[in-house]
Parts: sequence; structure tokens; C-alpha cells
Amino acid sequence: MQILKQKLFWGSLAVLLSLATLVTAFTACNKDAGLAAIETDANGYVCLKCGAKFYTERTVFMGSKCPQCNQTTLAQTVGYYCEKDKHITIRAREGDREGVVCEKCQAHLGGAMKEPLEKDYKAWGATKAKG
Ligand SMILES: [Zn+2]
Ligand SMILES: [Zn+2]
Repeated sequence: MQILKQKLFWGSLAVLLSLATLVTAFTACNKDAGLAAIETDANGYVCLKCGAKFYTERTVFMGSKCPQCNQTTLAQTVGYYCEKDKHITIRAREGDREGVVCEKCQAHLGGAMKEPLEKDYKAWGATKAKG
């Protein structure tokens, strides 16, 4: 009887330990995914009418009104990353996702979406806006 009790004890301890490992691994994994999603520090905008480019701090959002031409044609931007030449092509978020090509080498960048950083927007020629 004593031996059976001991077996049960070690058995449940092993189950508990493996559960704890699983939970830890799961939490760590989730944390990484969350961080990757918010790794940018800026929001980008492009005017579909006059082509003016802007960016703001991450916490600041512009409306749809373009500060340059006063039309409500301002669109949020998204970046597409080219592995080959490490170049980010920035364009309006809406529109044809399949037809995105790298500005530098003309390679198709359909699935390579990446949030541009403030330095990417600066290199793109965007003006910093206060929102
Ligand atoms: Zn405009
Ligand atoms: Zn390229």
C-alpha cells in the first residue's frame, strides 16, 4: 500500500511539472508574438490625391484630411520588405496587395508586410506631423 501511494505521488508530480513547463513555454511564445506586432514606433500616411507623405509618433493618429491639399484622401501606409536589398517599399494600406513590387529591384513583395519604423519614413521622404 505504501509503495502504491509513493508511485501515485511521483506520478502526479511529474504531470504537474510537465504542465508547468508547457504553460511557461506557451506564455513565453505569446509574449514574443505580441512584441513583434508592435515593434514600430511611428504611423505613416500618404495622400492619395497630392501624394504628400507624413508620419507621426506611434501614439498620434491623423485623420483622413490631408494637411497639404485639405482633401479627405489621406490613407495609412504599410511597408513591404524586400529581403534581397533590405529595402522597405511604403505605400497606402488599401489597394492591390498582390501587385506590390520592390521600388529598387521590382521583385514581387506580396506576402512580406512589415511595419515601417520612423527612420524608414524619414528615408521615404515623409514629413513629421503632429496629428
Ligand atoms: Zn493631399
Ligand atoms: Zn528589392
